[in-house]
Amino acid sequence: MELTALADIKPFKSEWRIQVKVLHTWKHYTKLSGETLEIIMSDAHGTKILASCKKTYFEKFAKKVPVGMWRNIENFSINGPGVSYRPTNHQYKINFIYGTDITPSTLQNDSMFLSLVDFQTIQQGVEDENILIDVIGEVTDLGSLDTVLCSGKERKKIEFSLTDLQGRRIACCLWGKFAESIHANCKAVGGDTVICLLRFVKVGTYRDEVQISNSYDASQIFFNPPIMESEAFLKREVASNALTLVESEQDKLEREIRRDKWMQYPIRDIAELLSSTQIEQCRVIATICAIDKDWGWYYFGCKACNKKVNKISTKVQVVKGNEITTHLWWCEKCDDKVTKVLPKFRIHVWVKDGTGEAYLMLLDWIAIGVIPETAAALLNGSFEELQDIESFPEAVTDLVGKTFMFGIYIESNNVASKGGMYKVGKVWKDLSMLLTGGSTTESWTQSDVGTSNLSGSQANENTVVTPSSKRKQQSNEGEPDISSTTKKQCARVFVKKEKTTKEDSSSKKSG
Ligand SMILES: [Zn+2]
Repeated sequence: MELTALADIKPFKSEWRIQVKVLHTWKHYTKLSGETLEIIMSDAHGTKILASCKKTYFEKFAKKVPVGMWRNIENFSINGPGVSYRPTNHQYKINFIYGTDITPSTLQNDSMFLSLVDFQTIQQGVEDENILIDVIGEVTDLGSLDTVLCSGKERKKIEFSLTDLQGRRIACCLWGKFAESIHANCKAVGGDTVICLLRFVKVGTYRDEVQISNSYDASQIFFNPPIMESEAFLKREVASNALTLVESEQDKLEREIRRDKWMQYPIRDIAELLSSTQIEQCRVIATICAIDKDWGWYYFGCKACNKKVNKISTKVQVVKGNEITTHLWWCEKCDDKVTKVLPKFRIHVWVKDGTGEAYLMLLDWIAIGVIPETAAALLNGSFEELQDIESFPEAVTDLVGKTFMFGIYIESNNVASKGGMYKVGKVWKDLSMLLTGGSTTESWTQSDVGTSNLSGSQANENTVVTPSSKRKQQSNEGEPDISSTTKKQCARVFVKKEKTTKEDSSSKKSG
């Protein structure tokens, strides 16, 4: 059979013969079609197309399409490609069928067949946002690796910019393994330049800014790929560092604030939070005044689904003189016995500002941001339940007396009961960035954390955070080491806060 260029194949028949390079494969799942193997291929002209293989044919075809290899493929059906997030701009898509034949090809060609789109075009708006694109740039403004909750599942997320040779920046947000990958790579090279090639990524708009993000597993990430485009970056490195990459601290802060979705929600004081009549989100600046120890400080979550598990049994075996302990747990979500679990923070706290007190719950990925160690590290390998609520680790009890900004979900039960336990979605410990943002500055200084309920001049200067880094440091010092579960004692925590020698009361409220 004669070879046909990918640009010329059409759905009216299935007898085609094509010669293609496999660029990328991944497994995909949809309710409609179940699990499929997705394959992006290119012919020698650089025309790319997506092929899909149903689970029934995995065994037959999956091994025959290794990434990087050229293949001759015969007999397949051709369909429409679906509308959103198409990895190629081909108007059709290939489906492997029972009679599909895949054989090695003699063709050799190292090209990656990139479809790079320049930053100017991206900023001005790409022709069709439903078609995934390739971008390359230098990694700049790398944010922290965050964990967020998406429909009940914890997902890693990271934000950064890619900067092109002209100094244009594009905001990027990567999820899951892509986020972990860029975080690990940039950490590994220290301050060195990292050129990042993102393939088959989405262009969208997020908070009025063009943003690149991965399209589930369809995307690919490469660091310092050995291609002409990255060499151009490395050659220009010296010049670009001197010229275009200088960005003021102010710009950086403003961009960070603009990208944080929580920044769109209003800052409320606790009195306003408690009287809220709507299901919504808001931010509250408050000081943790007590930990509700009745709830303990950790739970065990299933490694597969993150849900809380309950212990069924503990078995101790002696193998070659060593005691080996095996725990067995029940996961209601997985509806099965599980052995792989991880300790996770679950901390219930009382917080207060000048207007009242609220009861918050910090789950694992939230607490990790403000507790210097992980729950696993604090438990030191133990898989036992908490035995004594007085034995909280210092890393946890140290939260008492500290001031944070909390991103809070006001849910229907909070509205109905005008209070109750609020779930926290984010905690900011570095409050200095908020002082740059116009109206937020005002609400910040007004909140004057916790002082109005205090007796006399005991006002806790310690918890009034001001922009100077010196003051910030002080806010972490001289903390009371007690915490309790009752509101009455809660007030006592503040009163007990003795002046430390490092305090500088003259700078009180200087923020
Ligand atoms: Zn589970």
